[in-house]
Amino acid sequence: MICNKCGQTLGEDVRICPICKSKQQIVNYEKCSYKPRSRKVAGILQILFGGFGIGRFYLGYNRIALGQLFTFPIFFIGGIWGFIDGILILCGQIECDVNGVPIE
Ligand SMILES: [Zn+2]
Repeated sequence: MICNKCGQTLGEDVRICPICKSKQQIVNYEKCSYKPRSRKVAGILQILFGGFGIGRFYLGYNRIALGQLFTFPIFFIGGIWGFIDGILILCGQIECDVNGVPIE
């Protein structure tokens, strides 16, 4: 496996290049133990329940999701953040789930 950014040779299961820190996309889907997650599901969950980080939980970004969950009671920061996040997911700004598997 070769880094998709800097061309560095990497081990088979490396998800983040140690040289340039770029996330590696898994080209061989069979290696992945689950189906790529759905962009529509993630985006809609995030728009509806962004204040609870549901769309982010769905994509495996638990830390971001918890950030939204815990800032939701503070002037609805998590709610606004989560809502914008949902739009970004639907618009294709978030390309991969937490494991670097592209969202479909
Ligand atoms: Zn690299």
